Amino acid sequence: MQLSPTRILHSLAGAPSLDGCAPLSAPCAICGLDSERGMPWSRWQGTQFTDQNKIARYGSDAICEPCAWVHSWVAPPGIVLDPAKPKGPNLRMYSHFWSEADGYWCGNKADKARMRAWVLAPKSGAWFAAIADTGQKHVLPYTPLNRGAVGRVRFEEQTVILPVGDGGGLVAAMCSLLTAGPTKEEVGQGDYWVRSWRENEREIRAFERQWGSLRRRAWWTLALWLAQRDEDEHGRRREARQMAASNGRRPPGDTGRVPRAARHVAAEALGSAAGPDAGCQQASLFGGAVGDGAEP
Ligand SMILES: [Zn+2]
Repeated sequence: MQLSPTRILHSLAGAPSLDGCAPLSAPCAICGLDSERGMPWSRWQGTQFTDQNKIARYGSDAICEPCAWVHSWVAPPGIVLDPAKPKGPNLRMYSHFWSEADGYWCGNKADKARMRAWVLAPKSGAWFAAIADTGQKHVLPYTPLNRGAVGRVRFEEQTVILPVGDGGGLVAAMCSLLTAGPTKEEVGQGDYWVRSWRENEREIRAFERQWGSLRRRAWWTLALWLAQRDEDEHGRRREARQMAASNGRRPPGDTGRVPRAARHVAAEALGSAAGPDAGCQQASLFGGAVGDGAEP
C-alpha cells in the first residue's frame, strides 16, 4: 500500500476499522492514493466537508479508510483518555511528528521547545510534520511525506519548505530578538514600538539587516510561530533596565535616543521588505500607550 502521513498514523493506531467501510478499489478523493478499504464519498461527509480545494482527487467517489478515520473524532495514538471526559481530544488538537528514525510523537503549544528542536534537527529517511495552530483545521490529511534531508511540513493551511539547518539561523535569531524585548507582533510585521527602538535599536537593526528580506516567505511565518523568548533572561534584562533607570543611568546598548522620525527609521531598517504600513505603529505611538511586550 502506498504510504501517507494519514496512513502511517492510522497504522500506528492499530488500523481500526470504521463503520461503513468495506473493501474498495478506487482512488481516494482526499489523498489520491489507491484504497483497499473505504466508503463511497457520497455516503461519507456530504455537505459538511469544506476542504474541497485541498483534496487530491476531487470528483472521485471514494474515501479510503485511513482518510475517513483521520477526519473522525479520534485521539492520537498513545494519548491516554481522561475517564471523566469520554469524548476525549481529537487529532486536530495536536501537532504530529513522525520519522522512520525516531518514531511518532504529538504535542500542543506547551511543547513548542520540543517542536522547535524536532523541526530544526537534521532529517533522514521518511518523515513528516503536521503542525496545528488553531486546533480547528484538519492538517494531517494535507501533510506531505518526505524522504531525506530536504522536505516540506504542513503548518495549519500552508505547506512550508523547510530550509536545512534553519537556513542559517532564523529561528535562533528570532528567539534572541524576542528575548531582547520586541514582541512577536513587532517582529512579524517589522514594525517596532518606540520603546523597542529605544531599548534594542542595535539588535533590531542587525536582525532586520540579516533576515528582514525573508518576511514574506512561508518559512518566516512558521519560524516565528516556533520561536519563543527566554522568559528568565528577558525578565533579567528588564530588571536591569529598570534598575539603571532608577539610578539615572542607561543600560548598555540603550542610547536613550528615540529616532527623530520613527516612521523613516522603520522603513530604512526594513529595506525593500517594508510594506505600505511599515512604521504605522511608531506614528500612532506618539501620544499613545506602549505595548506591554506580551507575546501572542
Ligand atoms: Zn485517502
